[in-house]
Amino acid sequence: MHMLAPVLAYVGLGSNLDGPAAQLRLALAEFTELQDTRLVAASPLYRSVPLGLSDQPDYINAAAALVTRLAPLVLLHALQVIEVRHGRRRDGPRWGPRTLDLDLLVYGQTCMQTPELTLPHPGIPERSFVLYPLADIAPGLVIPGHGTVEALRERCDPHSIAALREMTHE
Ligand code: ATP
Ligand code: CA
Ligand code: CA
Repeated sequence: MHMLAPVLAYVGLGSNLDGPAAQLRLALAEFTELQDTRLVAASPLYRSVPLGLSDQPDYINAAAALVTRLAPLVLLHALQVIEVRHGRRRDGPRWGPRTLDLDLLVYGQTCMQTPELTLPHPGIPERSFVLYPLADIAPGLVIPGHGTVEALRERCDPHSIAALREMTHE
């Protein structure tokens, strides 16, 4: 059996429906059950104002680090299975409210652009709600063509994001 070498990957989590903080905590627990994958870090939770459509609840966001032997598309599909388990629907407007959004931010050094998967995720450099949690777990991570996560976070808008007090039930 041909086995892929382990790769360090990062996932961005977001939710703004049906108990967003609990959705994220459950998703992180589900990451530990993924085949051929280990959850190696999880950021604190943040609250952010919505991107694009402003007439929707604030988001709760986090980032996670996985060490995985799954190929990029196989990992993406496994993340989509978790989204569906959380009642994610794909019939709403782009960037509309959702129970769980799992974006594959980075997969090792892989750069690719296909209709189904772009790596690294193209939204990273301008999204505070990605950069704040990602900087907590991977400040030195280089986003190809954009420098380190830490440097990107220093340049992004700090007003649209705040740390979430832990132990809240939002
Ligand atoms: P955005 O990608 O700008 O954050 P979104 O998360 O709201 O928007 P979705 O509706 O969740 O977008 O996903 C649309 C499609 O994006 C998915 O079906 C998936 O195939 C594709 N996609 C491309 N690159 C990625 C990636 N790096 N991570 C997750 N999905 C991706
Ligand atoms: Ca997204
Ligand atoms: Ca997504």
